[in-house]
Amino acid sequence: MFFIGIFGISDRKKNLGDIEFKCTGCLNKKAKFIEVAMSFQLFFIPIFSWNKRHLVICDVCGSTYQLKESSVKAVISEKKAEYADVMTVIYENKVCPECGQPLYHTDYKYCPKCGKKL
Ligand SMILES: [Zn+2]
Ligand SMILES: [Zn+2]
Repeated sequence: MFFIGIFGISDRKKNLGDIEFKCTGCLNKKAKFIEVAMSFQLFFIPIFSWNKRHLVICDVCGSTYQLKESSVKAVISEKKAEYADVMTVIYENKVCPECGQPLYHTDYKYCPKCGKKL
């Protein structure tokens, strides 16, 4: 957050609850659904916000997906998101499907821990 006198601009986060989403990184099925928006503040009171984005964050590995705004209502009411609702993958944390070892380089051909071909 930065302030110019009494005005401030910050990233505002709102937790919309847990939803069901199959993570492409670790295949976990539970994720957090959050709303992020830029917010203009006066004396720490949000006056208006813009640039709203809706993100799904995997509970286990932290993979992050930005959802299409047109899907947001359905995701909130059904508590479930599909791959079709995803607009962009912001961050994907790949793990080995066999042993769960995090794969820091997506170009690994074999898992460095158990040797499974990826
Ligand atoms: Zn995950
Ligand atoms: Zn492995």
